[in-house]
Amino acid sequence: MNIFGIGLDACGRCIHYHQENDTAALLCARCRRYYACYQCHNALEDHLFVPTDGTEPYPVLCGQCGHLLSYEQYESGACPFCGHSFNPRCALHHCIYFRRLPRGTG
Ligand SMILES: [Zn+2]
Ligand SMILES: [Zn+2]
Ligand SMILES: [Zn+2]
Repeated sequence: MNIFGIGLDACGRCIHYHQENDTAALLCARCRRYYACYQCHNALEDHLFVPTDGTEPYPVLCGQCGHLLSYEQYESGACPFCGHSFNPRCALHHCIYFRRLPRGTG
């Protein structure tokens, strides 16, 4: 399973997000590719990142170990397979990646 993005390292970090815990790749519902971040996606594709909804079983790919992750596994804060923690600041971009918003926030 490939991770797409710009300037990726071995664990899926891109030129935009490259902290130790920036290793999660997110699935675009339209092109069905796992991207390191939406900025990479929007620079390389001809459409904007389309968030996945509740029907998507594996919206996240762990760049550290390569396992596909469910939304719930990702939201737990760390990969259940390799234990690598995810960047909590990604929550700032939650609405870009996931259509499962908490009720009332649009
Ligand atoms: Zn796409
Ligand atoms: Zn990027
Ligand atoms: Zn992992």
